[in-house]
Parts: sequence; C-alpha cells; structure tokens
Amino acid sequence: MSAIADAQASAPDAVIVGSGPNGLAAAVTLARAGLAVEVFEGADRPGGGCRTAELTLPGYAHDVCSTVHPLAAASPFFRTFTAEQIPLRTPKVAFAHPLDGGRAAAVSGSVSDTAETFGGDARAYRRLLGPLVKHADDIIPNALGPVRPLPIPPLAMARFGALGIQPARMLASRFHTPEARAAFAGCAAHAVQPLTYPLTGGFGLVMTILAHYVGWPVVEGGSAGITSALVDELERHGGRVHTGHWIESLAELPAARATLLDITPRQLLAIDDGRLPARYRRALGRYRYGPGIFKVDWALSGPVPWEAESCHAAATVHVGGTLEEIARSEADVAAGRICERPFCIVVQSTVVDPARAPAGHHTLYAYCHVPSGSPVDMTDRIEAQIERFAPGFRDLVLARVSSSPADVEAKNPNYIGGDIASGSTSMLQTLFRPTFALRSYRTPVRGLYLCSASTPPGGGVHGMAGMRAAEVALRALGQRPSVLAQNPGAGAR
Ligand SMILES: Cc1cc2nc3c(=O)[nH]c(=O)nc-3n(C[C@H](O)[C@H](O)[C@H](O)COP(=O)(O)OP(=O)(O)OC[C@H]3O[C@@H](n4cnc5c(N)ncnc54)[C@H](O)[C@@H]3O)c2cc1C
Repeated sequence: MSAIADAQASAPDAVIVGSGPNGLAAAVTLARAGLAVEVFEGADRPGGGCRTAELTLPGYAHDVCSTVHPLAAASPFFRTFTAEQIPLRTPKVAFAHPLDGGRAAAVSGSVSDTAETFGGDARAYRRLLGPLVKHADDIIPNALGPVRPLPIPPLAMARFGALGIQPARMLASRFHTPEARAAFAGCAAHAVQPLTYPLTGGFGLVMTILAHYVGWPVVEGGSAGITSALVDELERHGGRVHTGHWIESLAELPAARATLLDITPRQLLAIDDGRLPARYRRALGRYRYGPGIFKVDWALSGPVPWEAESCHAAATVHVGGTLEEIARSEADVAAGRICERPFCIVVQSTVVDPARAPAGHHTLYAYCHVPSGSPVDMTDRIEAQIERFAPGFRDLVLARVSSSPADVEAKNPNYIGGDIASGSTSMLQTLFRPTFALRSYRTPVRGLYLCSASTPPGGGVHGMAGMRAAEVALRALGQRPSVLAQNPGAGAR
C-alpha cells in the first residue's frame, strides 16, 4: 500500500507536508491535542534543516543545515521538551569574533562580564543590553511570535521595538571600540541584509540578548537529535512520519480536517490544484526570496589554530573583520556582487561536542552569504578568511565538501536559490509574512495552513511557526490548544 493510501485508510484528522522543525512542531502540537496526525516528507530522512550526516569522511558527523540553537533553547515550544529529550551543549563563549593582530571580541556570561572586556564601550554595552536581557523572558517569546497590533506591549517590549527597528549601523554607532562594533555587526549580519537597512539592529539585538539569556548551544551528537526528539514525541501521541514522498499536488493528500504545509509560498503555488483563490495566488506571488549561502564542511585533523584565545572556547566564530568590512560584505551581496573577503559564520561544534569526530579530530563548517543562486565557488575565499585569523588552518584539512546555493536547494527545496531563511528578511517581510494579511498561517481555503519559516517569526530552529499555526488550526476546530499541559517536562529548560 502507498504511504498516501495507508494514511488515508487511517482517516487522519491532520496532515502535514514537510518534516522540518516547524512541520514537526505543528504535528506534535496537534497530536498532543489528541488529533491523529500523518506527516509526508519528500526527503529520505525527516528533519529538513535539522539533519546530521557524514558529509566528508566516515566517523565525522556534520550538520547538513542548522547547528547552533539559541532560538530552540529560548523557544516556548522547545521548552516543552526536557533536557533528556534534547541534550544541549553550551560553550563557555557564546560567540567569538577575531580581528587582525590576534585580538578578538567574545560574548559570554552576563552582560557585565562581557561589558568589562569592551574597555571604553563597557558602559554603552551595559546600557544597551542590560535592560533588554533583564526582560528577555518577555522580549524573546514576543519576538518569536507574529506581530500583532494589540495588546499594547509592556515597556520592555516597547523599548526593544524602538531600538530594534533601527539599522544595525545606527545602533552600533553607540560603540567606539572595534571589538564591540564588530561583535554587534556580526550578530546583525544574520539578517542577511545590508546593515544600513531598518530592523537589522533588531536581529543584532535578538542574537546578542540570546547569547546572555541562554547561550549559543549545539545539540549533543548533532541537530538530528532535535528531529529524533520531535518524531519520538509525535509517535508517542500516535502520529506518523512517511519519508521519501514528495507531494506534487494538494490533490494527492488524504482528506483531513486540517492540512498544514511546511513549505514556502512558491512551492504552495506549484502544488496548488486550483483551490487557491486568484487574489491569494497573486499575494503569494509577491513573496520575495533573499540571498543564498555558499557552505563548506571540513573534516580536520586538529582544532582550528585561532590566534585569539577566546575563539577556542566558542562553537560559533564570526569571521569577517571589522564592522565596516562586514557592512561592505552584506552590501555587496544585496547588490548582486561577489565579495572577495566575505563575512563568514564559522561553526566548530566539536569544541563542545568532541564525539562528532574521531579523538583529537574536528568537524567544521562555514558559510557566507552570496547573491541568490550564485554559481561562483567561494571555497577559496572562505578558507582565506579563516586562514587570516587562524594561520595554518589549511594544513589541517583532511576533506572538504562545498555546497553552492543550488546544492543547498537540492538538499531542501525550501531554500530557494540557497535562501536559508525561506524568504527575504526585509523589514516588511519580517513583520508580515507570507502576505500582508494579519492572518499569517491561515490561507483562504478552509482547513489549509502554511506553517514554515515563511510565516512568523521567520527563519531559524524554534518550531514557533509550526506551533502557532497548529494553535490556529485547533481553534478553528473548536479545540483549545494546551501545548504546555501535554508534557510533564514542560518548562524544564
Ligand atoms: C546551512 C544552514 C545553516 C543553518 N544554521 C542555522 C542555525 O545554526 N540555527 C538555526 O536556528 N537555524 C539555522 N538554519 C536555518 C534553519 O535550518 C531553518 O530556518 C529551519 O530549518 C526552517 O524550518 P522549517 O520547518 O520551516 O523548514 P525546513 O527545515 O526547511 O523543512 C522543510 C521540509 O519540507 C520538506 N518538503 C518541502 N517540500 C515538500 C514537498 N512538496 N513534499 C514533501 N516534503 C516537502 C523538505 O524536504 C524539508 O524537510 C540554517 C540553515 C542552513 C541551510
């Protein structure tokens, strides 16, 4: 019997397309509420952006996509899982940022701990981050939800909004030391936007708040551990995941009371069987995708020989030099140019999780932003940037695998042109995605929802788009969502 026929025979209440963290979060939320859930995944393994594989050599476990999980650690959805279900390894330094001459910025511990390392910027750092980190319990869950005009936000949220709407360059002008300026720019560059654009300051703030709030952890053994925990939880509540089954038309899907799609607008347009109204199709057609990434995975015979000491204690190292250099790199990408000295996000998970590689050896990945679909091989440029701050790095390389934007998309069709945020993070599209309608998850078709990173709060492994979409679906079915009550370990982290 085919997977579809098998699922049809079991008369599911809910069907999910795509088993990324959002698809599985939706599935778990619905299953915990008592619905019979069937998930269809095209790839031969579940997980989407949370998969781990021996990409280079046997015995070296690499994350195919995400590795660093501050968003998951702070996410109200993932806080319904216990530390035993998703074991995190948190490095001493959340992230480090080397500069020429063996210097580096390092963000770790409390706001005061980090401020002290910023010398002349200590006071400015404390004044900017202190009040925000103090109210992170309010700010982060709000930042991980859809933007709503009501209720009027509490003071901390209003302060965060007023600061976060600013371009990163404007916010960073409070700092004068190259270290503090570069550290903030590196966080803001996760927005994949020029640092002069509004809201890039907000990305910088969220990433920095998270560094002090929960750290920047990795999952023991690799990000596939998140997927296993989600699939186990789903199966514990009677749900099932069918892998190796690409959905090419909505018409293929078994009838269900709710259908949730962990895919992006362009994919929904492609699988629409004529049921979407023309107005909604036009609105989805206006959805914009952002730049792509070029990624390299390495197997190394030893740790990266960073000149700056603090870089050895971080799983994440932002490589790209000063704020001005990072700003140029992101501006080049937005203008469709290749940057010779690109800003790179470098991840060395084996610093905190050595079992991912044979004894004494390491895995490493780095990616830089590139124009959407760019065919240019960035391997040498990325390696040169690492070598700049870690002379001798290239001598440690046992094997490497490079992935162009097209390769990234081939591994996961949600990353169109290599866009790992499943849609541009321009200010408007961050605040309103996938369309300008306030109902972000609901489509005009009864019982049909979008739940991917193309819906609020956007990219990253937080499961919040899936959870929120499932809550909307449950309300439409007359059920009250009670996600926290369904797991005895709720709030354990
Ligand atoms: C290299 C890289 C590094 C990253 N690093 C981080 C990081 O460190 N931290 C972080 O928080 N985030 C990171 N991200 C981003 C993060 O992985 C994504 O934002 C997140 O996975 C999005 O989750 P999702 O559930 O919306 O979609 P995805 O995880 O993209 O999952 C979508 C799933 O749907 C399936 N699918 C699509 N179309 C169909 C179809 N027609 N039929 C059946 N199945 C279908 C896909 O195969 C896929 O499994 C990274 C991404 C990449 C690529």
